[in-house]
Amino acid sequence: MESKFSFLSTLETMGDYDPDSMPVEQARQLIQQFLAPLAENESINVSDALHRTLAADILSPMNVPPHNYSAMDGYAVHSDDLATAPGRLAIIGSAYAGRMFEGHVAAGECVRIMTGALIPEGCDSVVMQEHVQVAGSFIEIGEGHLRGQNIRLVGEDITQGATVLARGQIIRPAEMGLLASLGLSEVKVYRKLKVALFSTGDELQQPGTPLAPGQIYNSNRYSLLGMLGELGVEIIDMGTIRDDKASLKVALLDAAARADVIITSGGVSVGEADYIKQLLAEIGEVVFWKIAMKPGKPLAYGKIGTCHFFGLPGNPVAVMVTFQQFVRDALRVLMGQQPKLILEFQATCISPIRKAPGRTEFQRGILSQDKNGGWIVHTTGAQCSGILSSMSKANCFIVLPVSQGNIEAGSAVRVQPF
Ligand code: AMP
Ligand code: MG
Repeated sequence: MESKFSFLSTLETMGDYDPDSMPVEQARQLIQQFLAPLAENESINVSDALHRTLAADILSPMNVPPHNYSAMDGYAVHSDDLATAPGRLAIIGSAYAGRMFEGHVAAGECVRIMTGALIPEGCDSVVMQEHVQVAGSFIEIGEGHLRGQNIRLVGEDITQGATVLARGQIIRPAEMGLLASLGLSEVKVYRKLKVALFSTGDELQQPGTPLAPGQIYNSNRYSLLGMLGELGVEIIDMGTIRDDKASLKVALLDAAARADVIITSGGVSVGEADYIKQLLAEIGEVVFWKIAMKPGKPLAYGKIGTCHFFGLPGNPVAVMVTFQQFVRDALRVLMGQQPKLILEFQATCISPIRKAPGRTEFQRGILSQDKNGGWIVHTTGAQCSGILSSMSKANCFIVLPVSQGNIEAGSAVRVQPF
């Protein structure tokens, strides 16, 4: 069979190779070409902003710190008095965080000061309390102190007008605190991405109900709810749809009308009840539907109107792998973020692995360090794409490239930690 992707021609002699399936990296790049951040944004409270994405740069409305503050518990002094130390200074009052010393401090005087208190007028240095001797209402200071010491200067952390956070930044706990530290209570974010989700399969049963012969529990719905939940999208959970072409068509059209993205599981292979790809071609467009990867070969990407469509395979492991390798980054771009750099490094594989050339494999691995600190990895065992416990046991993917054959114990492999 002749390939419709010319770049595949060199792969055609390989064992596990399907001429119509697209290499992983090309599929990633192809999807990216269809993606642009959502156009709409909204202002929300910083307290509600976890996992949202900034839709505009944040310029600091103020200096941080806004004034000069003490970095230590000690005594605020005039640096001329430090220059002439050793010496004796009169304590004329106290300054606390949030309760400033109101008067002026002259040469020969000092003020007891706590960390975070405003530096009193006339002072420009703080001597740590551990470095003075208190004698009644006086302190004795020794030599060796520096002008300006132990003061957090105005604007030292952030100057007014500086770009603190850039558009596209995901808001994590640190960003929530940072925004609040600038006095901002509201923030402009992209609106939530709406993702419609349904599973297909006549055999699927909801957990919590008994299984009839031939039925299995719908696990994909839950692993997808979890992976989507981590991204902070608005989920439109449409449950399970039967393997019936008319019902699937209604569900797809309904989802396309309500969501920015549709994710389905199952029904994308070439069995008799696998209608998803046919329907995508009928009511939208298919960009590709097979990827040269394992698990996850049938993976449809296309569009229904302006809605992005990801038809994930039915096998539970394949669902998680394809989501993590393709869908997650695509959703991030739609949400206004940058795709994340995939962290990948080399480890020594301590178990042999069987693999036929022709597809990129994402085996589930357990990564650890040997006694010399080197990274070692072994597989979780059987790699059938129905064994969801392998995803639970694993802490990394072992990524085996297309042309790779069997692997002997002790070989170097690439790993992607979760
Ligand atoms: P399919 O792609 O629909 O042919 O499904 C491939 C395999 O995955 C079959 O063994 C299905 O029973 C199984 N499967 C499909 N959907 C789910 C699901 N939601 N949860 C668990 N297993 C599923
Ligand atoms: Mg099915």
